[in-house]
Amino acid sequence: MPVDATLPYDDQNVFAKILRGEIPATRLYEDEYALAFPDINPQSPTHILVIPKGRYVSWDDFSAKASDAEITGFVRAVGKVARDAGLVAPGYRLLANTGTDSHQEVPHLHVHIFAGRALGPLLAR
Ligand code: AMP
Repeated sequence: MPVDATLPYDDQNVFAKILRGEIPATRLYEDEYALAFPDINPQSPTHILVIPKGRYVSWDDFSAKASDAEITGFVRAVGKVARDAGLVAPGYRLLANTGTDSHQEVPHLHVHIFAGRALGPLLAR
């Protein structure tokens, strides 16, 4: 079910549980600000999720309320994860679904990194 990105943060969401270690995930990268792990249902040969460590529902919430250090740390982490995975030369796509029309399913901000094949047009038609 898509989530309403204007709702308050829910500490029981699946990515909050991954951050707390209550649900397993392969931790590809982790620092003070971010955690990266593979998407459980990959949509491309490489499909990585990067999430901030803070309690932010969506890109909207994060961009409005996160500190400059959190924003800088998170953006740099997304770039590093893609770079370290060797994705810069072949190319990759970032996606951050926000709210119901985008079909956001998990109410903790996550950036998808898609790569590993020609990804085609931006949106399904
Ligand atoms: P979105 O529709 O942008 O909210 O994407 C949510 C993504 O989270 C989907 O691509 C799911 O496959 C992924 N996902 C859900 N649960 C897990 C999990 N436990 N570990 C890794 N990825 C997950």
